[in-house]
Amino acid sequence: MVKAKFSTWASALCFLSLCGDAAAHPAATAAACKADLKGLLTDPARHWAVNTTVSFPGDATFANATERWSIFSAPTYSAAVSPGTEADVSKVINLARTYGIPFMARSGGHGYAASFGKLQNGLSLDMSKFNTVKIDSAAKTLTVGPGARYRDILDPLYNAGFYVQTGSCSCPSVIGVAIGGGVGRLMGELGLTADALQSVRLVGADGVAKTVSATSYPDLWWAIRGAGANFGVITSATFKVQTLASNNNGNVFMLDFYLPKEKSLDYFKVIEKHYSPMPANLAAVLVLNWNSTLNVSQVGSDWIFFGTEADARKALAPILALGAQYISATIPWNKIIAISGAGYDPENCLPNKPRNSFSLNQKVYSAVGWQQGFETITDFFEKNPGGRASQIMLELFGNQATAAVPASETCWPWRDVRGFFQAQFVYDATDSATQQAANTYGAKIRSQYAPYTGYSKPTVFVNYARGDEPIENVFGADKLPRLAQLKHKYDPSNLFAYGHPLPQSYP
Ligand SMILES: Cc1cc2nc3c(=O)[nH]c(=O)nc-3n(C[C@H](O)[C@H](O)[C@H](O)COP(=O)(O)OP(=O)(O)OC[C@H]3O[C@@H](n4cnc5c(N)ncnc54)[C@H](O)[C@@H]3O)c2cc1C
Repeated sequence: MVKAKFSTWASALCFLSLCGDAAAHPAATAAACKADLKGLLTDPARHWAVNTTVSFPGDATFANATERWSIFSAPTYSAAVSPGTEADVSKVINLARTYGIPFMARSGGHGYAASFGKLQNGLSLDMSKFNTVKIDSAAKTLTVGPGARYRDILDPLYNAGFYVQTGSCSCPSVIGVAIGGGVGRLMGELGLTADALQSVRLVGADGVAKTVSATSYPDLWWAIRGAGANFGVITSATFKVQTLASNNNGNVFMLDFYLPKEKSLDYFKVIEKHYSPMPANLAAVLVLNWNSTLNVSQVGSDWIFFGTEADARKALAPILALGAQYISATIPWNKIIAISGAGYDPENCLPNKPRNSFSLNQKVYSAVGWQQGFETITDFFEKNPGGRASQIMLELFGNQATAAVPASETCWPWRDVRGFFQAQFVYDATDSATQQAANTYGAKIRSQYAPYTGYSKPTVFVNYARGDEPIENVFGADKLPRLAQLKHKYDPSNLFAYGHPLPQSYP
């Protein structure tokens, strides 16, 4: 026993010396680091809880504990810990701090910054076992663990008589979305997902679990709503929810249609003229993609109106005047993601594909800017058949409730934003020619569109950032001095270093 302990500590010391500075390692040391990490994690002295799982490449549970939506420039892992208790989350963080183990928390695995790939042969702190969903009807709150995805909260909330702001897809984790701000169709009426937060439990870089709220660690409370991946690992979050009775009993009007590219500029002009700014209770998601049946590019549109059909038809009159072939229906709020956009959600949520993204915030709507992006991606489709599952997604949301929250309330910097432009390139993982073309076209589309966003320089919010943007364009130059000061206070050894890391000082 004593001997076993000695050898583990000896290997731990070796680990510290080999792996403490990941950037400085020659590849030759990676195998040694891997072996030492295994020794550390399987040492009986860890006393993991019975429901905590430790896994390694080849183990049945490893794939789930490390799975990612995008495998483009993804992190790689030598080991995963899926804690079953908050105490084991602390244990992992303490181990990582003591031995210099590079690691990243994983909740839904839907973060897709190309910069995540800087983590190689690391440790996945997989939070998927924290997947509880609790609704307190009297308090009108929802409490979720980081393993809970949007698909896990929609029906339970609706059935209990509530709704809440969500993202546009069912698969990301609710907490992962919220700590980057969280944008979606209800930004006009309710604000960001982060604006619904009431408190979180967070295990900090010191390994200590704390409640963070307006009254407990208020400085962290400001920082986690927009830069939350930088300050600790959140083990649960409580959100305020709204009653369905307060909003047309939770029923919305949906209008979906496709237009060929020949009609796209006229359509974009209608949007620019009539919906800029977007009414608070209206939202649109447009997809500029390739129709592989007709072999042409097209615009798919999904408009959602929070209110009655009669009011929706008035609000959507300029769109209805286009004379497209519409699919319309009144649907309950909890089915928006499943039904809208011709049921795009399962395809959009497929994991393990390279998804190479270039995104920008937009404050104004520009028909000319969108059309230019459409022309460029159509050129990409025509020349790169392997990339025809790619798309430009335009999310057009009201921002009235988002803008009504004082800028000083959270670190989220873009409360004047009214939409999001994302070029997402998808191709086969082995198709390096299409990947190269995607890199070129993506950078071109992003720089072509930047002058049309309404911002004096290109900006992007953290959930959609690629990771190659200047840090001011992601977190905002005015927020960075305080964010950097808090990073230094709460994560001085830069443990949370891979999810859009903040600097320790700024400027
Ligand atoms: C299909 C799809 C649809 C999306 N739709 C929207 C949308 O409508 N609105 C929107 O705002 N965003 C959207 N996003 C972006 C999404 O919000 C971010 O990718 C978010 O980071 C995903 O969180 P996750 O937990 O699923 O990802 P992960 O990859 O698990 O985590 C992302 C980052 O957060 C950190 N992190 C994970 N868990 C924790 C934790 N418990 N505590 C602290 N840090 C943690 C990770 O280390 C990583 O840096 C979408 C993404 C995808 C892929």
